[in-house]
Amino acid sequence: MQITVLGSGTSQGIPVIACPCDVCASTDLLDKRLRASVLIQTKNTTIAIDAGPDFRQQMLREKVNQLDAIFITHEHKDHTGGLDDVRSYNYLLKRPMEVYASHTTLEALRKAYAYAFGENKYPGVPKFDFRDLENGKTLTVGDITVVPIEVKHLSMSVFAFRINNFAYITDANFISENSMEQLKGIDYLIIGAPRKQKHISHFNLEEAIAISKCLGAKKTWFTHISHLMGKTADVAPILPDSMVLAYDGLKFTI
Ligand SMILES: [Zn+2]
Ligand SMILES: [Zn+2]
Ligand SMILES: [Zn+2]
Repeated sequence: MQITVLGSGTSQGIPVIACPCDVCASTDLLDKRLRASVLIQTKNTTIAIDAGPDFRQQMLREKVNQLDAIFITHEHKDHTGGLDDVRSYNYLLKRPMEVYASHTTLEALRKAYAYAFGENKYPGVPKFDFRDLENGKTLTVGDITVVPIEVKHLSMSVFAFRINNFAYITDANFISENSMEQLKGIDYLIIGAPRKQKHISHFNLEEAIAISKCLGAKKTWFTHISHLMGKTADVAPILPDSMVLAYDGLKFTI
């Protein structure tokens, strides 16, 4: 199974529009970050986790010609703003796109994409097949088995996703004991850590490192990175062994 980091940036991406800072001005390609998302592929099945505003660009870059389903962590726009572009897959696969998320997230998406629902739809609108996810309830798409695990993003419930020995956790600043139990035994972890400084709704780097150590992950990549984190080349030396900043286009096999 192959994991591809489609985007590793925080909600504004890097560079941030009109920001004159060193990180945003960096010419290092590792400092260019689209909004956070990953692709998971087996020979027969392809799923994406989140479809933010850069979804179209990410699908084009990775030449994704087949997409079976999209799993959504939570409704924030940096994770859902690109859903209109499932239209290409609707035409190609001749069916609605399966979108898996919590009931609350799907309710929010029904409002955000109201034009795609209801009686007299405009021709050519995206077609969605919304499906509820429940905490801890495993489900399978093609040959990929996914366990949604609830984490907290300030007061909001967000789903982390575990697939075999890999977990993707973003937009979280708290994980309950019960959810930590469900994450135990993973080898590979991608976890959101926008910056070194304390954040009200995200783990900072130090907290994300502690979660990784607690889970005993063999390899950890940090994602949802803000320009406040610093340049990739400057952050690399301060990270513990087996932990690195993710970058757009990163691929690994689990
Ligand atoms: Zn986010
Ligand atoms: Zn900046
Ligand atoms: Zn968020």
